[in-house]
Amino acid sequence: LVAGLDAYRDLPAETPDGHKVVLYVNTGLMADVARARDRGAEGVGLYRSEIPFMLRDRFPSEEEQRTIYRQQLAAFEPRPVTMRTLDIGGDKDLPYFPINEVNPALGWRGIRITLDHPEIFLVQMRAMLKASIGLNNLQIMLPMVSSVFEIEEAQHLVHRALTEVQEEEKVEIPMPKLGIMIEVPAALLQIRDLASLVDFVSVGSNDLTQYLLAVDRNNSRVADLYTPYHPAVLRALQYIVNECHAIGKTVGICGEMAGDPGTAILLMAMGFDSLSMSASNLLKIRKVVRTVPLATGKRLLTQALGVDNAAVIRSMMELELNNLG
Ligand code: PEP
Ligand code: MG
Repeated sequence: LVAGLDAYRDLPAETPDGHKVVLYVNTGLMADVARARDRGAEGVGLYRSEIPFMLRDRFPSEEEQRTIYRQQLAAFEPRPVTMRTLDIGGDKDLPYFPINEVNPALGWRGIRITLDHPEIFLVQMRAMLKASIGLNNLQIMLPMVSSVFEIEEAQHLVHRALTEVQEEEKVEIPMPKLGIMIEVPAALLQIRDLASLVDFVSVGSNDLTQYLLAVDRNNSRVADLYTPYHPAVLRALQYIVNECHAIGKTVGICGEMAGDPGTAILLMAMGFDSLSMSASNLLKIRKVVRTVPLATGKRLLTQALGVDNAAVIRSMMELELNNLG
């Protein structure tokens, strides 16, 4: 699969039978940006805004954040840049904001922290909105959502930041599209209620896999159990796509499985509108999309969804990829 990848740089991500998939990149540093543009990313599906926070020894100021965000937005304009609000806690530590918990994966993390600290959230929103002035390609995405009230509270804060920034800067700023990540099983089971409140949905399959399977994503002792090929994970993902499309919402996926050929074929066949991945996987996945007809993907998906065992599904996909060369 890695042979001749350069040839795919400028070709659209479209299957031989005419099905298009949007390929986005996951970024965090400016260094990711040049590589992503080189490899034809159609925008940013996940900007991990906590990364610049993690590289400092204090919270970056509103002005510092504005500069950082502006670079990301300007680099991809007019293509969309989906900025995730600060996602710390769990496996992502800030040295200057210590959180000591017995069970951090189930504790204070993501949207839970920023809603408890609206001053952190508001500064970040103001910085993103200011950074977007004149560019209009900002999208905002909330991590670790598990309830309707979190979306409503976040929306209230985004509106407040928008009003403040418009008054301060004396310009009209369009309301950015707002989306949520589906990472928590409760959100999956309440997907229509949550999705109907926002403009788009993106599945954080790294965390969703961890929480669905009750397997720590970073614990080597249970690493063999942590697999996106688990039938429960695949069926959950198909359910999310069906539910989102039933109410007319766009749904993407931005976990690691979007950048892995074996799982990407299945995701494409499920009907995900976009796959977002690290820049290093973009050409490989574009080649996969341009090589495997949607009809083949659907046949494999039907087979996979009928199997009760992750290892069997994985071998089936590996065999298929070997046959493709
Ligand atoms: C995810 O959970 O799948 C995701 C994309 O977010 P992160 O890996 O940053 O938690
Ligand atoms: Mg996550």
